[in-house]
Amino acid sequence: MDLIQEKYHEKVARHIIAELGKKRMAGSFAPTIHQAKEEVIKMIPEGTTVYRCGSTSLVEIGLWESVKALPGVTVIDPYLPELSPEEGLEQRRRGLSADLMISSTNAITLNGILVNLDGMGNRVAAMAFGPKKVILVVGMNKVVPDLETALKRVKHHAAPLNNIRYGLPNPCVETGICNDCRTPTRICNMWSIIEGHMVKDRIHIKLVGESMGY
Ligand code: SF4
Repeated sequence: MDLIQEKYHEKVARHIIAELGKKRMAGSFAPTIHQAKEEVIKMIPEGTTVYRCGSTSLVEIGLWESVKALPGVTVIDPYLPELSPEEGLEQRRRGLSADLMISSTNAITLNGILVNLDGMGNRVAAMAFGPKKVILVVGMNKVVPDLETALKRVKHHAAPLNNIRYGLPNPCVETGICNDCRTPTRICNMWSIIEGHMVKDRIHIKLVGESMGY
C-alpha cells in the first residue's frame, strides 16, 4: 500500500473517531481489510445472534463465512438464496431483535455523521434501534467532508452502483445517472442521518484504510 495514503487515512480516521466519541459512538481504525476482518471477528462473543445486513463491503472481505464458522454464533441471514421473498422479510424482522448487527454505511462525514439510503428500510431501522450492538465496517473511500456532500455521494454515486450490482430494472442502470425514478424497484426510499446515539458506544464504526464497497 502507498505509505503516504496509509498515513493520510490514519490521520483522518483518528479525527473521525474523536468526533464519533463526542456523539456517544465508538470508532477504531484498521489499515487493511484483512486486519479489519480479524478485529471484527474478535468483537463477536460466543452465543451472539448476528444480523447480516446488505453490504458489498462485507461480502468482499468474506466476513460472513468467518462469522458463520464461529462457535455458538447464529447468523440471521436474509440473503440465503433458498429463501422465498416472504421468508427473506421474516428474517429481516427477526434481525431487528438480534444481539448484533453488522453492516456498512453509505457515507460518513469528517465530523462523524452517518448517512444511508434504503429501499425497504430494514438496514436503517436496525442501525437506529433494535439490535443491542451495531458494527459498521467502512472503507475510507466513503469519507466525505460534510453532510451535503454525503447526501450527493449516496444518491448520485452509491445508489446507481448498487442498482447496477443488483441488476435492477431502474433507469440509472442504463445511464449511470439518477433521474429520481418512481419504479416499484426503486432502492432510494428511506434516508437515515445518524448524528449520535443515547446508548453510548452501541454503534461502533470500524474505519478501514482501503477502498471497500460503494
Ligand atoms: S431514485 Fe431511481 S434512478 Fe435514482 S438512483 Fe435510486 S433507483 Fe436509481
